[in-house]
Amino acid sequence: MPDNRSHADGARVLADLNALRSIGAYKTGVHKPTFSEPHMRSLEWLAQRLPEAGLTADIDGIGNVLGTVAKSGPKLLAGSHLESQNFAGWLDGPLGVVYALEAARVINSDPNANGAVEVAAWCDEEGHFGSFLGSRSYVGGLTEEDIDAARDRNSGRTMREALSDVGLAGRARVTAERGRHIGYLEAHIEQGERLESGGIAIGVVTSIVGIWQYRISFSGEQNHAGTTRMDVRRDAGVALARFCVDIDDRFPELGGPRTVWTTGRITLDPGAPSIIPGRAEMLFQIRDDDPGVIDRLEVLLRSMAAEVSARGRCGVTVERLRTGAPAMMDATFQHAIEAASLAFAEGRSVRMPSGAGHDAQVLATIMPAGMLFVPSIGGISHHWSENTGDADIVTGAQVFVEACRRLLAG
Ligand SMILES: [Zn+2]
Repeated sequence: MPDNRSHADGARVLADLNALRSIGAYKTGVHKPTFSEPHMRSLEWLAQRLPEAGLTADIDGIGNVLGTVAKSGPKLLAGSHLESQNFAGWLDGPLGVVYALEAARVINSDPNANGAVEVAAWCDEEGHFGSFLGSRSYVGGLTEEDIDAARDRNSGRTMREALSDVGLAGRARVTAERGRHIGYLEAHIEQGERLESGGIAIGVVTSIVGIWQYRISFSGEQNHAGTTRMDVRRDAGVALARFCVDIDDRFPELGGPRTVWTTGRITLDPGAPSIIPGRAEMLFQIRDDDPGVIDRLEVLLRSMAAEVSARGRCGVTVERLRTGAPAMMDATFQHAIEAASLAFAEGRSVRMPSGAGHDAQVLATIMPAGMLFVPSIGGISHHWSENTGDADIVTGAQVFVEACRRLLAG
């Protein structure tokens, strides 16, 4: 451990995380939907802490909190988000924000440290109103029309109304100043069980997987469920169910080691107990960090659809709804996290892709980006019981601060 340099104060990090947990507390987690009262209080809490790190705080017109510094030299941007999923965990988001705050407190006041850390809390990473609205706004990827169209997925309240209700309407949105930052570093809980089950303290994220989404439609013949003999039926629902099982049987051959696929929604039309479904539809998603793997699986998916159609009972069409390029994390950032792990968690780090989306993938479109994960107990997340052991939280903070220092040192 490098003794001649100041490092993360574990007790302070835990106290900050607990302070954020007490705002909008729900059981052992939190309920902080975007622009709710506890979310806004959390943003204000951060804005009040930032001066401790020599940062000037601003909450901009999309609800991003940004802490900027006047200090010269290289600047590293670090952060995550402060809103939560509904009735969810206390660490998903706040962990990365508090680590960034801690890195700024330690490094910005250290005369021996090169440059400074600037802190961001990106608004609505959890997608109550849209998809990565805060970080997309910062990178210049969000139009006024996008904001006009955004609505709360639960209440239907428009984003414009929400911004006005919390006093942010009409405020300018801050966008990235090109060349200001050497890159962006984000810490997050893993939200899976790989680290915990392997006794590993730090995940060095190599990439954030892309998401490809499809609508697969089945057309058969709607008819009477009592009078239509089984051998003449053209049941779109049964064709869909068989297709789902077939995917699970055949995808492993062509998938990569970490490819995942999910049928997230099935609808039968007309969807009544006494009617044979004439139409059926499934929303299907594939995630991987290798577009080549996705290409192979999409070819397979389409050929499976053609096989079913050729049998003549039901027609199947595959429509691609969404293509998501994976975001590669910067090699220098991965190396800095690994080197920092060597100092504070020797032999307990592993390189891994992220199966979940994060603001880092948006920031990676305009600057080098890196991410580190800490273990999630039982792999549980998006639930109020989400947790990470205190020792792992502290180790993560130490590695994060050291990685920031190394990146700024060049
Ligand atoms: Zn998150």
